[in-house]
Amino acid sequence: MATMATRTPADPPIEPASTNGSGTVTRVDHAPSSWGLGDGAAIPWEYAPAPESRDVVTLKERYGLFIGGKDVAASDGQTFVTVNPATEEPLAQVARANAADMDKAVRAARSAFRRSWSTLSGKERAKYLFRIARILQERSREFAVLESMDSGKPIKESRDVDVPLAAAHFWYYAGWADKLEYAFPGRVARPLGVAAQIIPWNFPLLMLAWKIAPALAAGNTVVLKPASTTPLSALLFADVCRQADLPPGVVNIVPGPGAIGMSLVTHPDVDKVAFTGSTDIGRQIFKGVAGTDKGLTLELGGKAANIVFDDAPLDQAVEGIVNGIYFNQGEVCCAGSRLLAQESIVEPLIEKLKDRLATLRVGDPLDKNTDVGAINSRAQLEKITELVAAGRAEGAEMYQPACDLPERGYFFRPTLFTNVAQSHRIAREEIFGPVLSVLTFRTPEEAVEKANNTPYGLSAGIWTDKGSRILHMVKRMKAGVVWANTFNRFDPTSPFGGYKESGFGREGGMHGLHAYVRLEDR
Ligand code: NDP
Repeated sequence: MATMATRTPADPPIEPASTNGSGTVTRVDHAPSSWGLGDGAAIPWEYAPAPESRDVVTLKERYGLFIGGKDVAASDGQTFVTVNPATEEPLAQVARANAADMDKAVRAARSAFRRSWSTLSGKERAKYLFRIARILQERSREFAVLESMDSGKPIKESRDVDVPLAAAHFWYYAGWADKLEYAFPGRVARPLGVAAQIIPWNFPLLMLAWKIAPALAAGNTVVLKPASTTPLSALLFADVCRQADLPPGVVNIVPGPGAIGMSLVTHPDVDKVAFTGSTDIGRQIFKGVAGTDKGLTLELGGKAANIVFDDAPLDQAVEGIVNGIYFNQGEVCCAGSRLLAQESIVEPLIEKLKDRLATLRVGDPLDKNTDVGAINSRAQLEKITELVAAGRAEGAEMYQPACDLPERGYFFRPTLFTNVAQSHRIAREEIFGPVLSVLTFRTPEEAVEKANNTPYGLSAGIWTDKGSRILHMVKRMKAGVVWANTFNRFDPTSPFGGYKESGFGREGGMHGLHAYVRLEDR
């Protein structure tokens, strides 16, 4: 139920909460001039708490590694703790794999590849994938709550985006498993063997689905290392594999520190490596597989431009900008972190944007009204804080809405920088937080030049009323995905991937299958 607060735009901003131990700059320079109603009337809606129940999740005190279909302890008995970033409280102890465990997991995957998975027909493999998709849907609430607890993302996003999309990827690739000859006409598609997959913390279950579904559909077996801050949904997925009666060893899940990821990548019996994460680690992985015949796909960072022309529908563009950078706290590789606004509309656009930011609710990820949840880890919060401080020091003008932050947990206010120069760090570096840098342009050529002026090339957005302008721009943008009059839209049928330092290879769609097969002549 919503209640109406009495604060007016003319009131001073709410005194910010403490620094949450993060050192976050929380002073607010000005309150929004209206609340998006256009008449200056002040109706800052305050919502009664609507917390999702945690009861649907049964947390184990201790989670093992999932190797050969079994829940096993690390060979040296080591564990680590995964923490709820919204409360800073420990959630569970998780087995911490070492190099010997990785070797065991690769051997289990190889044995499953030889004995069962590669000998099944596509139709049989499809049955397992359909079963997994259905179980994910049946257990969607459990997955959504667990994902929000472990990662800090708002429940409405894990419930409406992450989990349904993860299931959709299994449905989609299940459909391809017995139709590979149509995906690659005139060729015979053979599986590669054992795939090593390393995933990040921003979309833990979804990245798992992006990687495991096409690999299994094409007949490969998998060893997957989740990120250390978000291992729980992958370990719950292990339970789904058991429930689906997936042959033991087809999927192995081995949480462990980053360095152990490298022993997986360089394991001599791995045939294919798929990595999503930072460009720095991507480079190391590239070196790690150099000189071998392993297949490699890298999906790395981004610094996407979201370009708004003067003929764009501004209110819709504002929603797209907000979705582009504040969705998942901005911890999105394809986030629209650079807004390029045409000079003639920059002022009204920024006014509308500030009004909209003032309505975003930051707080408990398990509250169904929350728009911006917790930052995934203290380390990530520190990185965001440092880059925001650099933005101020370099002369950009910061705006943050006046909202209270919870006293505990890793939270950061939605932040907007104007007067940003191309040379500023906040315009060049991937912040991976809820921070938008606004730049301006006069002509389409200038927009293209500025948009492409980045070492990255993952995604971009264009807002305009003219279809011809969209086509003109798309041809010139060096980005793997370009959204037109929308942003951050995902579909399992659509390929996704980057140029330049954003990596190479495509995931999703038929292109995503390509990375998991060896094509032979008939
Ligand atoms: P990383 O690239 O370090 O982590 C991604 C995955 O790689 C995790 O599973 C991590 O394991 C693993 N990993 C870490 N080191 C190695 C290694 N040497 N060899 C093999 N695997 C390794 O990202 P961070 O979590 O450190 O985030 C840092 C920055 O990277 C962010 O601020 C953001 O800018 C960017 N990033 C980009 C992502 C994207 O989707 N493009 C996703 C995540 C981050 P572990 O968790 O155990 O360290």
